[in-house]
Amino acid sequence: MKILVTVKLVPDTTAEKRIDPSTKRLVRTGVETVLNPFDEYAIEAALQLKEKAGGDTTVTIVTLAPESGKEIVRKALAMGADDALMISDPAAEGSDVWGTAYALAQAIKKNGFDLVIAGTQSTDSTTGELPGALAEYLGVPGVTYVRKLDLDGTALKAERETDTGYAKVSTDLPALVSVTKSINEPRYPSLKGIMGAKKKTIAVQTLADAGVDKPIGSDAARTEVTNLETPPARGKGQIFEAADAVAGATKIVEFLRERKLV
Ligand SMILES: Cc1cc2nc3c(=O)[nH]c(=O)nc-3n(C[C@H](O)[C@H](O)[C@H](O)COP(=O)(O)OP(=O)(O)OC[C@H]3O[C@@H](n4cnc5c(N)ncnc54)[C@H](O)[C@@H]3O)c2cc1C
Repeated sequence: MKILVTVKLVPDTTAEKRIDPSTKRLVRTGVETVLNPFDEYAIEAALQLKEKAGGDTTVTIVTLAPESGKEIVRKALAMGADDALMISDPAAEGSDVWGTAYALAQAIKKNGFDLVIAGTQSTDSTTGELPGALAEYLGVPGVTYVRKLDLDGTALKAERETDTGYAKVSTDLPALVSVTKSINEPRYPSLKGIMGAKKKTIAVQTLADAGVDKPIGSDAARTEVTNLETPPARGKGQIFEAADAVAGATKIVEFLRERKLV
């Protein structure tokens, strides 16, 4: 079975972020880059499925990112993935969700897959849209927000987090799932894993190599960032004084009712 895990390379969560005013895009150079923390849960889920299934199951990491991120991809290999595929091409710069999903789908289809596992969201753009778009382009069921995942042959069973609890979902492979942070506790790479990762293959492909037959990148983007603003500073709020808890609660409810918030 072939399991592919999509990972994004993102600026370190603690790094100071800067937007280039001319392109309205995040400045990614000169900032420490890391594996998107949400994707470590996706890698762990894939490794657990591999350990359970045994046999010839493989876990391949896939990313659309500049080649300079190769050593960050190696962390995913140090966790235990078998190999990696990087789609690295200057023509991909400025890709929006559509372009990113289309390019990843073409590369994944060309590579072959039974199951694709993604994180729920990135820590930089944070749209959470990519997994759905990717499933659509791959033409397979997309099971998002998964907190529990099991495979029995080609039958996939999952629990999806919902606003009110969870839903049990089942489908057949091939499929795509995106996993939440509740699914597992990602392992730390062991010393053996770190040493072993140095010998693992990271294939680097251009968009053409990956079978991407349409232009992506800034000129082809279907999304335009029209404006970016810092949120206004939070106001002081309103303090209610009341004789007791019931009177206080009543005042708060009245306040919310007046604004049609309850
Ligand atoms: C006009 C425009 C220009 C942009 N220019 C750039 C740019 O120059 N450089 C840039 O890096 N971003 C750029 N972005 C942001 C980029 O389009 C998004 O980061 C990307 O589409 C993924 O969306 P997301 O980060 O919201 O991922 P989400 O949907 O929040 O991520 C969910 C999961 O999808 C997977 N995933 C997301 N992105 C990738 C990826 N690249 N490779 C593999 N797996 C992935 C991961 O598993 C992740 O956990 C641009 C966006 C717009 C609108």
